[in-house]
Amino acid sequence: MYRQARYEEPLLNEILEGEDNGYFPDVDLNVPEGLARKELKIPQVSENRVVRHFLRLSQMNYGVDTGFYPLGSCTMKYNPKYSEDISAWPEVADIHPYQDERTLQGALQIMYELQEALAKIGGMDAVTLHPAAGAHGEFTGLRIIKAYHEFHGNDRDEVIVPDSAHGTNPASAAMNGFKVIEIESKNGMVDLEALEAALSERTAAFMLTNPNTLGIFEEDVVKIAKMVHDAGALLYYDGANLNAIMGKTSPGRMGFDVMHFNLHKTFSTPHGGGGPGSGPVGVVERLEDFLPVPVVDYDGERYFFNYDIPNTIGKVRAYYGNFAVFLKAWLYIKRLGGDGLKEASERAVLNSNYLRAILSKHLDMPHKELRKHEFVLSGERLKEKGLRTLDLSKRLLDYGYHAPTIYFPHLVHESIMIEPTESESKEELDGFAEAFIKVLQEVEEDAEVVKSAPHNTAVRRVDDVLAVKKPILSWKDMA
Ligand SMILES: *Cc1c(COP(=O)(O)O)cnc(C)c1O
Repeated sequence: MYRQARYEEPLLNEILEGEDNGYFPDVDLNVPEGLARKELKIPQVSENRVVRHFLRLSQMNYGVDTGFYPLGSCTMKYNPKYSEDISAWPEVADIHPYQDERTLQGALQIMYELQEALAKIGGMDAVTLHPAAGAHGEFTGLRIIKAYHEFHGNDRDEVIVPDSAHGTNPASAAMNGFKVIEIESKNGMVDLEALEAALSERTAAFMLTNPNTLGIFEEDVVKIAKMVHDAGALLYYDGANLNAIMGKTSPGRMGFDVMHFNLHKTFSTPHGGGGPGSGPVGVVERLEDFLPVPVVDYDGERYFFNYDIPNTIGKVRAYYGNFAVFLKAWLYIKRLGGDGLKEASERAVLNSNYLRAILSKHLDMPHKELRKHEFVLSGERLKEKGLRTLDLSKRLLDYGYHAPTIYFPHLVHESIMIEPTESESKEELDGFAEAFIKVLQEVEEDAEVVKSAPHNTAVRRVDDVLAVKKPILSWKDMA
């Protein structure tokens, strides 16, 4: 069970206490007194020890290649290694945005095909690949909505979001100068009466995630679309949960007008730690003329950058997006095909409901039973033992599992959000459930061991509050 050995590597100390070899470069790096090294000590160590040292350092990190990574909403699925290989080929890694289009035909073809595939998957009419992440996609989509209303002389300055929405939704609306109207959910879904009351001639758009962040499919979505459109507003789809429905239905079929895709979630490219992402935006026909420039087009002979978009919102970033991420998403879509994508959704939902059925016997699960690709438990009852959701998730690390998403969505107290994805086996899910239940037993029998967890990781419990209030991001902050 305890897969992570405690990190005890003497080499670092040895390096710090090594022999002075007399060499020290005479440059003033402006490093503060106390941090600057006065002499350079290089120890004599065998290759063996150096290799082990760095291998162990690499193992101090946890990633989707290390083990199960059940972060809800983030869709941390398997990243095929062939995509990593191919995206490192010089034909890919060495191309340059200033290259002549004639020398970029292969890359442009991939971008064009990706636009087409995403439009089909999303039930949209056109796609831009520019945005660098989901949040940036929201910003772009809302900018398009704003331009659309301005073009039609509509004076609309409000965006409605449900209280289950991801924090980026209201943030993107606010960044576009909209007033954010939050509506409360009812039984974990959009409250139609609250929506009706919020809609007005000032509403520019309603932003919705479906299935929502509780993993519940908004069964009234078609009615919601009609209400929003009848009010003269547009419907925005937050695509972070697309992994639950791709191939089964689409935002277009549900009545959405604009959507973003998180290629780094649904379409299997590595993410986390703020690495390169991609948040393409899809729109229905009446919004096509507002897309950012350029889009990749094909005239039957050549692929080219099309800047001829009449009411374009302009550019939302330099160049055309993150090409290596496009390539990985394109490979994933090509490899799986339509049936494979559909099966991925089916398995993601099955895996989620398998774990839900086991774990909801042990911890409360507010709202409806059946979930899509993720579910949200509440750790509220841990409080009886003086513990919180945070303690439970820290203790899971000791058993070799990455913690689930916690404290989101906000409408569930002490929330624990679990998304297993399609790419985990039953054995892996069983192992996670076993560890989870074991921790709940410990809560009853030995709360202290949970409260002081983790015990087996390289870094013990960190002071989150201090880290937020006084972030140390470089040596300059340490001085
Ligand atoms: C991840 C996520 C976003 C934001 O996407 P990024 O790619 O991280 O910018 C928006 N909404 C939901 C529901 C998400 O899970």
